[in-house]
Amino acid sequence: MALDPLGAVSQQSIMALSGRLALAALRLWGPGGGRRPISLSVGASGSFGCGGNSEKVKLSLKDVAELLRTRACRRVVVMVGAGISTPSGIPDFRSPGSGLYSNLQQYDIPYPEAIFELGFFFHNPKPFFTLAKELYPGHYRPNVTHYFLRLLHDKELLLRLYTQNIDGLERASGIPVSKLVEAHGSFASATCTVCRRSFPGEDFRADVMADRVPCCPVCTGVVKPDIVFFGEPLPARFLLHVADFALADLLLILGTSLEVEPFASLSEAVQKSVPRLLINRDLVGSFAYSPRSTDVVQLGDVVQSVERLVDLLGWTQELQDLIQRETGKLDGQDR
Ligand SMILES: [Zn+2]
Repeated sequence: MALDPLGAVSQQSIMALSGRLALAALRLWGPGGGRRPISLSVGASGSFGCGGNSEKVKLSLKDVAELLRTRACRRVVVMVGAGISTPSGIPDFRSPGSGLYSNLQQYDIPYPEAIFELGFFFHNPKPFFTLAKELYPGHYRPNVTHYFLRLLHDKELLLRLYTQNIDGLERASGIPVSKLVEAHGSFASATCTVCRRSFPGEDFRADVMADRVPCCPVCTGVVKPDIVFFGEPLPARFLLHVADFALADLLLILGTSLEVEPFASLSEAVQKSVPRLLINRDLVGSFAYSPRSTDVVQLGDVVQSVERLVDLLGWTQELQDLIQRETGKLDGQDR
């Protein structure tokens, strides 16, 4: 990417980068692509601490809070990954010992990621639907991080939330779909693999819960939830990144290892002058190999870091009230 003498990214080079990302966005990397595939969960243990200022970082977490509190930044683009859902109990289907892993063991799966391969799906869709049963909307609940992002939206500070997660917890927290880019798809809708008709995911809830492979009511073809499999195009909404990342005045990245392309490259798509805040267990991606002077890094437990930011923003009570209100709604739906 071309840099001007001042080190700033020109508008032209941003558009060029965005164009490359758009091309890269056409296909998800497969297992042979050398990158990690769709990640459901990473551990988020570890103790809070050691974030904030380092010699290279001029801004602190407090400064970021101030930028938000004073609305100096109000076009916030957020990127999230599996690390924000771990506190909701979302299991890693690749981890021996998790219930989901045990459930999948009964099938003859060559390797765990095969459940996201179309060839294997057409051979045997049952393992995928075991996962679908686990992750269908309603089973898990949003946590503090999801509701913090909802509060960002309520305060009209959220430009867009890009998620790699397929658990639907961003929707469940009440963030409108128009503010979301679910880069790896969701269970909210499903498509017939034969006639390509689209249906609400809810239409097949009873089938999925009863361990039946859902069939198209029109042509009887197998219906597949709109989760992005290897080799499938990303959702058209992913192209919103071309405008969103050029407009962003703050980039928040939470709970992601930044290992999955094309998602990972987006972390570098904001202008150089735009502060980037990483809240994560570890230092990852371009924050490690190509840090910027405007980077803020808060390492450790994601929930504790989010709570610290919320505290600095003075939103703690408001967040608690929101969580209580929304939890009450979800309790009502369960009854
Ligand atoms: Zn059909």
